[in-house]
Amino acid sequence: KKTVDLIWNTFNNLDPEFSLIFKDFVENGQIDVFPKKGKRNGAFCMSLPQETPVYILLNFSNKLSDSLILAHEMGHAINDTLVRKSLHALYRDVYTATAEVASTFCEDFVLEKFSQNADKETQLALKMMKLNDDVSAIHRQIACYTFEQEIHKNYRVKGYLAKEQIGALFRKHMKAYLGDYVELTEESDNWWVPWSHIRMYFYVYSYASGLLISKYMQNAVRRDNNFINKVKEFLSAGLSESPKNIFMKLGIDITKKDFWNTGLNEVEQLLGEAETLAKQLGK
Ligand SMILES: [Zn+2]
Repeated sequence: KKTVDLIWNTFNNLDPEFSLIFKDFVENGQIDVFPKKGKRNGAFCMSLPQETPVYILLNFSNKLSDSLILAHEMGHAINDTLVRKSLHALYRDVYTATAEVASTFCEDFVLEKFSQNADKETQLALKMMKLNDDVSAIHRQIACYTFEQEIHKNYRVKGYLAKEQIGALFRKHMKAYLGDYVELTEESDNWWVPWSHIRMYFYVYSYASGLLISKYMQNAVRRDNNFINKVKEFLSAGLSESPKNIFMKLGIDITKKDFWNTGLNEVEQLLGEAETLAKQLGK
């Protein structure tokens, strides 16, 4: 009940249509909430053919992270509902590069709303958690992307690469984002082995692009509530145009460095807030 209220209130502040879609999901039984025997772990937003409803599958166990996961999956669900409303089935999907925009957008606003009522210690813990997640989604994935680029380049010149050669490249790029504060042991040279996304060539960039676009939009909505209409236009556009053209129509040029820097500045600002709060708390 608390989670439903938190999410409904956050969505309703953003746009009444968001809270209405959420209310429908709750009332129509489109959210399978609790874990049960035989159910897979994790969470998922299931979009079936046009005529059938969208479903959300959760394993809710009453933690804040569970509420954020529901907000995240509702982002996918809202995205899908808006695309269905405005386009025919052929365009009904989202691009990999922007698939996680709606989900992170909803998740971040719900976390912000929750933080407003938390005590200072909790606020600091939440900011640190968020920073960790943001760095993992942006900097770590881009480090992986540049690692992949170098592997492919090397492979074209040298052909077969031994695991030690790949490991050395991996360490170089991980070190580039971790800096001198994190010590990388020799074993960490093998971390690329279980990193499954590396087998989906260059997929990793989509986490960074999705979150940075989402952060640009969060920033714009905070400055001007009416920007939510542009967010909805974007969420309704599906595969009707390339992401670049969809944004162009909204008056946003994503080929400009400034666009991406807006998202990065949001992370920088969060770091500043965490530092100030830590000082206040005598940490
Ligand atoms: Zn997602």
